[in-house]
Amino acid sequence: MMNTCIHIEKKSQEEAYITSYRYMELKEEEEKVVDISLKELAKKLEDFAKARDWEKYHSPRNLLLAMVGEVGELSEIFQWRGEVEKGLPNWEESDKEHLGEELSDVLLYLVRLADICGIDLAQATTNKILKNSIKYPPNPLQS
Ligand SMILES: [Mg+2]
Repeated sequence: MMNTCIHIEKKSQEEAYITSYRYMELKEEEEKVVDISLKELAKKLEDFAKARDWEKYHSPRNLLLAMVGEVGELSEIFQWRGEVEKGLPNWEESDKEHLGEELSDVLLYLVRLADICGIDLAQATTNKILKNSIKYPPNPLQS
């Protein structure tokens, strides 16, 4: 029993090491990306789901609920902090990293949801900004 536990612990340490090594490799590759389109993100998410056979779970409803869950996680970061200054000057780097992760979770579910619904999010967003600019014209006194 003891040997089995040691073996399992050693194996999980090796797996953790391999996982963290692979994460660093992937992170280096991803850090080279300075800009990415919504279509490219949608394709990456589609490939990610296909590779794991998760497409069956990616219904519009499931994706929406998952996104709302991530919005909750994002909200928790700001909960009880009071008003926060732009640029987050007093935040720890680890808190900013966490914020980036939760913002990403929300965006990724949003992009996947739009893709699954057949919505071109880049076009829809551009159209919406145009509609908003007509609905809310700029203040002529402000320039
Ligand atoms: Mg999250």
